[in-house]
Formats: sequence, C-alpha cells, structure tokens
Amino acid sequence: MLRRLPIPIPPAANETVKSYLLRLATVHDVIYQEMWTWVSVPGDAGAKARVLCGQRLAEATGYALDHLAKALPELNPDTDWLLLRDTPQFACSRCTARHGGGHVMRLFAHHEYACRRHGYWLGPPDVGQDHSLRHLADLPEILSAQRKHHRLVRAYGPIPVFDALIHAFKICAVLWKNGPEETYGDSRWWHWDQRLDRIIPKTDSQKMFSHSGCYAAIYPEAVTIAGLLASPTWRAKATAPFGDPDTDDRWELCEQFGLRLGLREYYPEDQKHPLHLWADHHAAQPHMTPTTFPERRLKNTDGTPPAPSTRTLRKHHQAARYFAKNRYAANTLIYHHHTNAPVIETYYPQPGPYARQRARLAETAN
Ligand SMILES: [Zn+2]
Repeated sequence: MLRRLPIPIPPAANETVKSYLLRLATVHDVIYQEMWTWVSVPGDAGAKARVLCGQRLAEATGYALDHLAKALPELNPDTDWLLLRDTPQFACSRCTARHGGGHVMRLFAHHEYACRRHGYWLGPPDVGQDHSLRHLADLPEILSAQRKHHRLVRAYGPIPVFDALIHAFKICAVLWKNGPEETYGDSRWWHWDQRLDRIIPKTDSQKMFSHSGCYAAIYPEAVTIAGLLASPTWRAKATAPFGDPDTDDRWELCEQFGLRLGLREYYPEDQKHPLHLWADHHAAQPHMTPTTFPERRLKNTDGTPPAPSTRTLRKHHQAARYFAKNRYAANTLIYHHHTNAPVIETYYPQPGPYARQRARLAETAN
C-alpha cells in the first residue's frame, strides 16, 4: 500500500475516526477495512482487537497528528468525554458541505439540539436515523430555545444543564400526558400537540415517527424549565419539603414553574406532580453523570459504537406502530431513554389498574 493517500481530505470538527476513515476510503476507492488495518495496530487482546494509531493516520493523510487531534476527539488526549454525547450522529450537511466522501458523523456536545446557522434539528440521535435532518423554518421557537440553552450552559455549566434538561423533558412529558386537568386547560401543552403534528404529520405517523421529533415538540418549554432546575438558588429552595408550614419555598418554586408554562399562581396540590417528584427526589442529589462515547464503543474493534441491534430496531418500529395508532407522544417520551442519560424511574406512572398497559408501553416505547 502507498505510504500516503494522494488526495488531501481534512477531518471535520468533532468527527469520529470511523467517519473520517470511511470518507477517506470512499474518495480513494479503498475498502474501509483495508484503511482501518493500515492506521491501526494490534491491541493487547491480540490481532483481532486492533487499536487506532494516531501516528499512522497522520502519515497516511499527510496531516500532523496535533492538527488531526484538534478535529478528532478520539485522537486528542485532552478530550473531556463527559462534555460530548455518547452516540455519534450525522452533522448538519450544510456545515460540512466542503467535506467530501460522504456524510460526516460527529459527536455533539450535550446542549447541541439545533444548528442555529442553518436551522436544522439535530436533537438526540434516533435509532437508525439517516442523514436527512428536519429544517426548522416553520418552528423558529426551537432555534430561539437553542440560543437560550447555550446561555444556560454559560451560566451554570454543561453538566448541571444536561441534568436539568433531562429532568425538564421528563417533567414536560408527564404534564403532557396528564393534559388539560393538570394545567387548568390553559398552558403550553397544546403547543406541543401542534408542534408534534408539524414534525410528525398525522398522514404519515408511522414512517415519520421519531423519538427525537417528540423531544423537539417540547424542547422550547423544556429549556425554559431547565433554567429553573439548573439554578442553585431554586435547587436549594426545592429541598424545602412539600407542605412545610415554615417556608413558602416550595410554593415559590411552583409559581416560577407555572410562569414558564404561561400559568399564573400555579400551585399543584398533588404530591405526585412531576415538579414535586423532582424536588423530593432529585433537587438535593448530585447531578447525573452522562455516559460517554468510550464506554459505549468499548467492545468494538474499530472504536465506534456498534450499529443498532436488530432488537433495538425492532423496538423502534414497535414504538412507531404504537405511536401511529393513537399518537401518544407523551407516553413515548416518559419511557424513552434519552441518549447519555441513565434511566430515571421517578416519573414513571405508579402501578395501578393500567399496570399491564403501562408495562406494554414501557416495552414498546424505548
Ligand atoms: Zn449547519
């Protein structure tokens, strides 16, 4: 084989090594496996488990190792994996238009849900998602929410905001499921239905179904609520117990929460209200630690997470079929495991007369 590839192909920002190698292979008309063997060396576990050798990649591409490391997190010893999602996903095609050889797969930071420059929804990745992204021309509030999200990260830091948004998604999903009685029929939950109908048209529910799209429907309000949950002041107030006669802290928290959904003097009495559940079980806890890309890719020889298993794909299609029947996006989200996030059981509906139905939902929704 040649010592250096003849066509210079620079890596894209935060691209995975596998994506880069695939593009190099396409442009040079080489088989991917051959490319991988060229830039890797046998690992400790023997010849089968090869590991990437940065120096070899540098020699093959003609770019200095430190230049490659600036773009490829896997080559950079200073990469803080806790700041990046654990799953690579397709980059915005317009951001990466100058990169030839195929669509770029990259790692996004936790707070990157939309490309603000080109107006595409990036979301959390979906199972078996292709490279086409949903444009948000008709949903400008999602792009404004992305801007707000960015500001939250600057104010409170990435991990507290990651934790807050995952909880905010769950809280919104439970409210959405409970519907008008929870919010006196007067809140943002009906915006969620409208957005959902735009993102996943009723005429094509099954084919267009996407967990990521369901998250998009609640994203603007979830970001606003995350601003409350990430704030150390409100976290401290939330630890005041429900119904505490000595302090109004919990009620002030509820009021603030209500205002974020367009509700005045919102004082939910139900102790199982998702905001009370968050305050009772999570406000005093340390922030969740995201799962990382190296944890997920551990067992794969070329350093990428495995492609979705047949079982995962089957579950995704089941969820799509179930969604197409009645469009209960809220249920779908309550049971869905957001990428990077551990399972949070606090918000699951309690066992009751519908326990079997709920068990089935749990089965089909993730
Ligand atoms: Zn873009």
